[in-house]
Amino acid sequence: MPAIATQLTDIKGIGPKLAEQLQALNIYNLADWFFHLPFRYEDRSRLTPIGAAQPMRPAVVQGEVKGASVVFGKRRSLLVKLQDHSGTISLRFYHFSAAQKKQFSTGNLIRCYGEPRRGASGLELYHPEYQLLEDGHDQQLEAQLTPVYPATDGISQQRLRILHEESLALLRQHKVALNDLLPADWLQQWQLPTLEQALVFLHQPPADTQLALLENGQHPAQKRLILEELLAHQLSLHRLRAQVQSHQAPTLAEKPALQQQLLQQLPFTPTGAQSRVVEEIAADLARPFPMLRLVQGDVGSGKTLVAALAACQALAAGYQVALMAPTEILAEQHLHNLSAWFEPMDIQCGWLAGKVKGKARQNTLQQLADGGIRLAIGTHALFQDDVAFHNLGLVIIDEQHRFGVHQRLSLREKGRQQGLSPHQLIMTATPIPRTLAMSAYADLDTSVIDELPPGRSPITTVAISDQRRDEVIQRVQSACQEGRQAYWVCTLIEESEALQCQAAENTATDLREALPQLRIGLVHGRMKAAEKAAIMAAFKAHEIDLLVATTVIEVGVDVPNSSLMIIENPERLGLAQLHQLRGRVGRGAAKSHCVLLYKAPLSLTSKQRLQVMRDSQDGFYIAEQDLQIRGPGELLGTRQTGLQMLRIADLQRDGDLLPQVRTMAEQIWQNHPEAVEPLIRRWLGDAERFATV
Ligand code: ADP
Ligand code: MG
Repeated sequence: MPAIATQLTDIKGIGPKLAEQLQALNIYNLADWFFHLPFRYEDRSRLTPIGAAQPMRPAVVQGEVKGASVVFGKRRSLLVKLQDHSGTISLRFYHFSAAQKKQFSTGNLIRCYGEPRRGASGLELYHPEYQLLEDGHDQQLEAQLTPVYPATDGISQQRLRILHEESLALLRQHKVALNDLLPADWLQQWQLPTLEQALVFLHQPPADTQLALLENGQHPAQKRLILEELLAHQLSLHRLRAQVQSHQAPTLAEKPALQQQLLQQLPFTPTGAQSRVVEEIAADLARPFPMLRLVQGDVGSGKTLVAALAACQALAAGYQVALMAPTEILAEQHLHNLSAWFEPMDIQCGWLAGKVKGKARQNTLQQLADGGIRLAIGTHALFQDDVAFHNLGLVIIDEQHRFGVHQRLSLREKGRQQGLSPHQLIMTATPIPRTLAMSAYADLDTSVIDELPPGRSPITTVAISDQRRDEVIQRVQSACQEGRQAYWVCTLIEESEALQCQAAENTATDLREALPQLRIGLVHGRMKAAEKAAIMAAFKAHEIDLLVATTVIEVGVDVPNSSLMIIENPERLGLAQLHQLRGRVGRGAAKSHCVLLYKAPLSLTSKQRLQVMRDSQDGFYIAEQDLQIRGPGELLGTRQTGLQMLRIADLQRDGDLLPQVRTMAEQIWQNHPEAVEPLIRRWLGDAERFATV
């Protein structure tokens, strides 16, 4: 044993083979080992009189064996009666050996730990851990709460406990190289225990510790580690931001002429919120380092105009702009809207998606490279290797939540030319709850368009079982006969686009049969781009009354005359997605309705979620509820945020710490820069790999 343990195998009992097995628990080094914390504790420090044992309350009981017999119920089992001065309880074993049976000879003294349940013979302990107490030996109870660790095949709790005890002894004797990365003056200021104190405590909490505190993550020892972990995440984003801002970007001076030209074409004026956000962006673009701004705006809040006005500033300064959307249909909508605005101003727009091939593609690539195309619109095909821009000044990404952090980063990388990185504007319609935004997007500045354009009417949402499908079909009929238009959305049946499209085709066929008077169109992801565009155009021109669609219409589609939406099997979709879908109606002056046509019976969670949709039309409220019901990982829709990998912190539980974490991160960054790298490495390790620019 070396004087100072620096690696896993320096711990007595951990050899190369075990070290390899521990990788299954994400333990790769000494720090990982110490941060491999119990996920719960058992209290084996007190003896409970048998008469006081309660169902479902794990307890240590001790008594004399009053008899043991093999009984034949549904399954053969060994039933042992145990008695102390206060009462009797039974132990039941379905698997047992002859040797075990012998241990339970009448008169023997047994101590066991388990969770009593009501059984055939009164309170019973099923397969409790037990030990035979030798006569006259007063065996001690545990002095600490007993930790229960995340375990893996082939490594028992018992073994983990022993190994941890071994390593903690080294830690106490300072024979382990594990630095306290939080500055000492700091621990005092925030009244936090040292790293050693926190770790020793959490592996071996004294018996009098309040279990409830530990269970709720409220103990100061936990807080210390939670804060440190959140801090590490915050710092990694901080570092990312600093790296990006150390790059140069073209300074795009504000030249309002082009913006005014655009605004003059419009039948409306920007809302106050739009103008404010445009101002915020304008100030960023005029700086010599890359803008990193996230614009959050609920469905229909008018993000496209904000993007267009930002684009004007870059275009006016002579730079190219690229706008990227996650799906082709959304990108096409942008192409449609933006070219209608920009072409009359002599700004050439270009289109690039995966399906653009051959000569057309060559042609587009050529014009992107020579600067002929000023405003490029498309899918992520815009950022493939063979695409080169002439002078890209601004990248706009719509619906960011579909892209992960690392995609965001590779885009930053991509547009860099001659030492200049483009500015980046990210727009999302999925309102991100504040707590989450603070951690997942801490490397970005945010603007919120918190106002909808005037003249929108509220949407009434109802949930109806599909047993009443016929009524719903009638409702579509009357709406369309009154000159309104409607959507009928078919949702994912399985994780297969093919099946989803099939379902939409079948539904369209059925509806055409049921509603022969209506003009019914169908649009889904497997149709050719031109076909899709033609259907969308026909719907927009009111040559189609009812549009049957898959969730491809989730984003971007804008037909103000449609005021009714039927969503089939809404229970299969996330709330954010439902909110997006529903945002396709309520865009005109007519009163709009959304029917959630669910398949009964609904689970409790599904009921809750549909209720949220009925209660509110506020994207932020819905997102908060979604966070409550589903947890942060799913809400962000990507496993790439890094937050998936939180080990101790829990965003939902610890979200209230984030403002404090922010302050702490600033302080560390300013006053203790030496701690930044080690903190990030300790907590993010390899996970941080993707987050380097
Ligand atoms: P989203 O934020 O969902 O992307 P869009 O940019 O598609 O919203 O805008 C939704 C609709 O609102 C479009 O028809 C757009 O032309 C219109 N719109 C945008 N800004 C305004 C405004 N200030 N006043 C009135 N209508 C507006
Ligand atoms: Mg949009």
